Amino acid sequence: MNADTLDVERIRADFPILRREGHGRPLVYLDNAATSQKPEVVIDALVEYYTTYNANIHRGIHALAEEATARYEETRQKVADFIGAPGPECIVFTRNTTESINLVANAWGRKNLGPGDEIVLSVMEHHSNLVPWQFIARATGARLRHVDIDGEGRLLWDDVERLIGERTKLVAITQMSNVLGTINPVRQIADLAHQRGALVLVDAAQSVPHLPVDVQDLDCDFLAFSAHKMLGPTGVGVLYARRELLEAMDPFLGGGEMIRRVRLEEATWNDVPWKFEAGTPNIAGVCAFSAALGYLQELGMEQVRAHDLYLAREALRRLSQISGVTVYGPKDPEARGGVVAFNVEDIHPHDVGTVLDGHGVAIRAGHHCCQPLMGRLDVVATARASFYVYNTVEELDALVEGIEAAKRLFRAPVHTRT
Ligand code: PMP
Repeated sequence: MNADTLDVERIRADFPILRREGHGRPLVYLDNAATSQKPEVVIDALVEYYTTYNANIHRGIHALAEEATARYEETRQKVADFIGAPGPECIVFTRNTTESINLVANAWGRKNLGPGDEIVLSVMEHHSNLVPWQFIARATGARLRHVDIDGEGRLLWDDVERLIGERTKLVAITQMSNVLGTINPVRQIADLAHQRGALVLVDAAQSVPHLPVDVQDLDCDFLAFSAHKMLGPTGVGVLYARRELLEAMDPFLGGGEMIRRVRLEEATWNDVPWKFEAGTPNIAGVCAFSAALGYLQELGMEQVRAHDLYLAREALRRLSQISGVTVYGPKDPEARGGVVAFNVEDIHPHDVGTVLDGHGVAIRAGHHCCQPLMGRLDVVATARASFYVYNTVEELDALVEGIEAAKRLFRAPVHTRT
């Protein structure tokens, strides 16, 4: 696929923030792996909630509460449809991917893991799919194993085969790396894990926003993602889990909403998924997430993927032509998402980021919450450009121009006057 598949000019008109400037130049937003921008329909949906049906959910018997509850629960159904879940009872709303993974680590891990059990992760995981398992390993005596990567940042299949064994209780793996862009073969990993009696958790923070994802096709047991990376508001995350797993798990947080009956000394739990939603949730955010899902559905996730692929291919081509630039991750654009991490010889990525910012180009520079991966790549940090539905090839040209400017600035010979 070479041609673009989305009407990007029309899409750009839906995003008010793209009309602003960065340091006097048109804003080029290439930090979508951190968070995406929001279309007008999502912003309007937030305002609509607060101006027309603001009320707490599941509790009131008045009209506003009923409307808010209906809209909140309709979004749950929409999320289930978006990822091919069998029903809304498999969808738990959280604050973000991080909380979804912590929920599984605590509510499933503490009950099901013990000394000698193993959790298989990979060296490319985000801290949010590493640290919760470190907590749980320490608490239960379970052991962590990590699948390594090859020189192009792809999982070593030999390691996958070797590390997933009799003792493995859970494989927790990212579907798309937020640094390397690598798309991992989650279905094959799930098949192997299930053959060996383990469950599979998918960190889908980067994949659900960018790829068509169907949890039944993936055959995963848990899947976590965040609304804010897919045009939705911050403060809304999703945990998908198979219903029987949710039913067998103990609650994570205690409080209102998640109970059926409370006595002074003990309590019983609500049905799933509400058993996992203690306290007042982000009602406005969840209702507005519905608009984001609708927007993406209208574009079509196949088209979103094709557009990312188009930009990834063009970015790889352009960056490979700049001398001194190292790009990390698979060389084949088909094997990756629209995330391109790179370094410029002898220039710290923070300096690259600062020069680009001066050109109105927003990228990310740092460890990207993947410190172990930085160590594995033998770098302290990288620069990273990441794309979404409103990005254009002209913006890639602005990226290249900024990198060339950084090279000129930092490689300029230093003359001393006598
Ligand atoms: N996993 C991956 C692969 C991510 O890219 C991110 C966000 N950078 C997260 C997890 C965490 O997402 P959140 O901050 O929304 O919890």
